[in-house]
Amino acid sequence: MSLLLTLSRPISSRSAIYFIRFILLLTCIIPISLRVNLDTAKFVYKYYIENDHELYGAKVRNSDINEELGRVDILLTDKTGTLTQNDMSLAALFHMTLKYTINPKKEYCTTVNVLQTFQFSSTRKRMGVIVKDPVSQKIIYIVKGADTVISSFSNEPNYWLQESLETLSRQGLRNLVYAYKELSPYYYETMKQEFDDAIMQMSNRGTRIDEIVDKYLDCDLKLIGATAVDDKLQLEVPQTIECLIQAGIKVWMLTGDKLETALSIATSSSLKRRIDIFFEFTQATCQDLEFFVYRIYQLSRHRSKNCVICVDSFVIDLINRLYHLAKTQDYYRKILSNFIMVCYSKRAVIFTRCSPYQKKELVEIIKFLLPKMRICAIGDGGNDVPMLQAAHCGIGIEGKEGRQAALISDVSVHTFKQLKPLLLYHGRLAQFSLLSEDASAA
Ligand SMILES: [Mg+2]
Repeated sequence: MSLLLTLSRPISSRSAIYFIRFILLLTCIIPISLRVNLDTAKFVYKYYIENDHELYGAKVRNSDINEELGRVDILLTDKTGTLTQNDMSLAALFHMTLKYTINPKKEYCTTVNVLQTFQFSSTRKRMGVIVKDPVSQKIIYIVKGADTVISSFSNEPNYWLQESLETLSRQGLRNLVYAYKELSPYYYETMKQEFDDAIMQMSNRGTRIDEIVDKYLDCDLKLIGATAVDDKLQLEVPQTIECLIQAGIKVWMLTGDKLETALSIATSSSLKRRIDIFFEFTQATCQDLEFFVYRIYQLSRHRSKNCVICVDSFVIDLINRLYHLAKTQDYYRKILSNFIMVCYSKRAVIFTRCSPYQKKELVEIIKFLLPKMRICAIGDGGNDVPMLQAAHCGIGIEGKEGRQAALISDVSVHTFKQLKPLLLYHGRLAQFSLLSEDASAA
């Protein structure tokens, strides 16, 4: 370029100086213009994505990473609200001793005074309320939550409950267990005083409140019963998952639900086909590190790819502990790396009973052990926010759980099936053209 510009001027004794001058000028201008070109191209791709009718409602909130969408290796997906519609309908109702037939015409309404409510938190996996019956003046604490949590607060035998819940979970239904406890006025007042003191504290308020609830309320509970709700899959989820897997993207599901529910959704969403088998890493099969290592060995000997790995919260905790050790000690790093590699070689992985923090940690573990892989996460609720932020590229779904996930994401979409055109068409398009531009710049 400098040579052409020099030759365009009349040749003189100063031509050599002009040549050097042009080189010096162009070394600054050309890289800047390339940068501007790249940014313009990215902006154009943002326009393409937002105006594609198949991606109706999609919004690119970070146009800097369009090309990342085209080189996703692992897709981490939430279950409720992402793969499913998050549209619950009551499917079954169980009571300790009575059998109910629900009569919608008859109303069972009693007015009670609500004295105190305890909000749901995903770490505590339950929410509660203290009510007072104006007629009998009884004060009652009622709590609902995950079955494992609630039944651990009760001393009564609950085999019937476990059995019915397992049957329901296998059908893909989500369960909630209800329990109650009657509080004497004196007991309630003592608790309330401590509770009010805790609320006024400036530091460690949350921990202190949790301690009081554990001490006074979440113990010696009486089980009332359980409900099971049905949550249907979104449109075209099986086709989208199959298409992504065929395109070489690993789809790993991270859910807060229990194992049985997750397995049932995995089957209906074609994450597991009929030819695939489930291979479990659970508390029953991996009590400690030795069992865990042996289980990895067993799985690595399983040659076929047709295998879906299920991991429960006990093993996720184990993996988290290994991750912290692996940062300094090679021995643990090797175990963890073997585990992730063997997971990567199979069809899919399902992590169950994950807390939001665990979802984020899993992203960090995969990033740490497979640094070259690009990780994309998709979720719909506030509980997915840490995971979306930790991943290379976060996709939020605007759903019934609010816009938290969509607002912090890099790209937000309306339904799961929109991933197909987003990743496989727009992502690839952006990647190839920007790569070729990069190459021409080099
Ligand atoms: Mg969700």
